[in-house]
Amino acid sequence: MTNTKHVVVAMAAACLVASTPVFSQTATSSRTRTHVETLASDKFEGRLTGSPGEKLAADYIISELKRMGARPLPGLTDFRLPFTFTAGSKDGGTTLAITKAGSAPQLFSGATTVQALSFSDSAETSGAIVMAGYGLVVPESQNFGYDSYAGLDVKDKIVVVFRYFPEDADQQTRAILARYADLRYKAQAARQRGAKGMLVVTGPRSPNAGAVVPMSFDTAIAGSGLVAASISSEAFAPIMAASGKSLEAVQKEFDSGNPHVAGFAIPDVTVTLKANVIRQQQTGNNVVGYLPATAPLTGVNKPWVAVGAHYDHLGRGTTGGSLAGKDEANQIHHGADDNASGSATVLAIGDAFSQQPRKRHLLLAFWSGEELGLLGSNAFVTKPPFPLEQMSAYLNFDMVGRVAGNKLTVQATGTSAMWPRLLEQANIAAGFDLVLQEDPYQPTDVGSFNTASVACLTFFTGAHQEYHKPSDTADKINYEDLVRVGELASGVVRRLMDSADVPQFTKVEQKTETGGRAGLRLFTGTIPDYASDVKGLLLGGVIGGGPAEQAGLAKGDVIIEIAGQSITNIYDYTYALELLKIGEPAKVVYMRGSDKRETTLTPSARK
Ligand SMILES: [Zn+2]
Repeated sequence: MTNTKHVVVAMAAACLVASTPVFSQTATSSRTRTHVETLASDKFEGRLTGSPGEKLAADYIISELKRMGARPLPGLTDFRLPFTFTAGSKDGGTTLAITKAGSAPQLFSGATTVQALSFSDSAETSGAIVMAGYGLVVPESQNFGYDSYAGLDVKDKIVVVFRYFPEDADQQTRAILARYADLRYKAQAARQRGAKGMLVVTGPRSPNAGAVVPMSFDTAIAGSGLVAASISSEAFAPIMAASGKSLEAVQKEFDSGNPHVAGFAIPDVTVTLKANVIRQQQTGNNVVGYLPATAPLTGVNKPWVAVGAHYDHLGRGTTGGSLAGKDEANQIHHGADDNASGSATVLAIGDAFSQQPRKRHLLLAFWSGEELGLLGSNAFVTKPPFPLEQMSAYLNFDMVGRVAGNKLTVQATGTSAMWPRLLEQANIAAGFDLVLQEDPYQPTDVGSFNTASVACLTFFTGAHQEYHKPSDTADKINYEDLVRVGELASGVVRRLMDSADVPQFTKVEQKTETGGRAGLRLFTGTIPDYASDVKGLLLGGVIGGGPAEQAGLAKGDVIIEIAGQSITNIYDYTYALELLKIGEPAKVVYMRGSDKRETTLTPSARK
């Protein structure tokens, strides 16, 4: 959260008339506590997307929606809006056959002997073998010459590479090489040189000597365009024997880090690698309902006002995102502040408005998949149940249960010129010390709505010690002030409901870019859609005034090539960015619908 402007809204309570309170304080207060305690209880097991705990939480929210008289969205019969996602990959039985000229093939299988890499294509490939050392390629832009493929012909071959990076190289060299040692990067380098497959072996001089690489948690839906597996030293032995060298001696040569140690073809042996990768598709559920307008909507501009919060959390923290210490690993991550607090606030707003006249529909949204990358809200705005042009505004609540010193942060205020004044008016009754931040590029669901050009806000009471740890529990919530957050937000909703003019959306230029380490150096102004399953890089948006927008790229375009590098997924893109230079135009090939187009993008320096 950098580059945000902190604006403390001055209070001018004396000269303005307070609006009628929307809340019945005591009833709301006790209900809010019950919501948080229930959602954050052990029974819900941390509400991991797609888990039984997530389903229990959805059931609870739905029963609350029914109690207050909310309905499923028009044309739907269920409050649940399911979306599918890749929850990880597993090996479905990968095999390796090694054939020496003139003899019968030797077959290897079993998880400790040969195992697909999580990003491998699920396919079969055969070919001759080339040992390519550590399989490292450092882009020229780094002014450091290291290319494991220099002088090697790997076209239509299967390359064998060591895991990690040279063990005996000096500190500085290791620091550079380590950045390119990710197996995805090695796979991309091999593929772009024409290799059909890649085998990874952990050398005898490295940590985890001889062991296969565990399949990692990976939400990428598409494969990398290469068949790739790691193999044990046992499976590698017959290949090495054909070369007439010992594996340890070979590794030792490459371990010097000397870029002139060359790889070599292994004669008289071919392998057939049959990788079987099962990408585990799971279903998460957004829960969305609405309180219909109580008066005819004729002539009402943008008839929907939306409030939302994610209700999913990290489960036991085993799939990434956990900040648990070693002593609390695998425990239930309760997520009381993150984000039972926001979910309870949306329920409280619904409760309040269920008893009051409504000139617009009030949409009540509970997102799942937020912790895995805004999956639920992204699915909603990508295929909205009604045109988003009908939504006058979206208010988001993520971590609002830890008010300290009366301070409340409201972000994304740059999405409409109307927000500062509207917040100031609504805050007269609530009386918070508001901190307004214009930047809508926040790591929460508000980002999805900003990308969809909906005027939006997100409320936040700040990070804390227990963030993403099992200890984010219900007893640490400041309930009194949590209820006040709901009151303030209800004041905003009331004004949005009643007002003839709606907030006009303003596109905020993004100063910082999230994503891979390449982003540290240069700025392209692209907003990748991390949840897509297309081959290539789908743009979820472009940053106003940035290089991508200047190049004519837009939301929905799919980049398939940049600077001569083919792009099949987000990782390729991240690595391809390493090859770009600040101020130097790069050719970009992209698909707009079924139309293949070209443009030139000139990256600028990151500020
Ligand atoms: Zn979180």
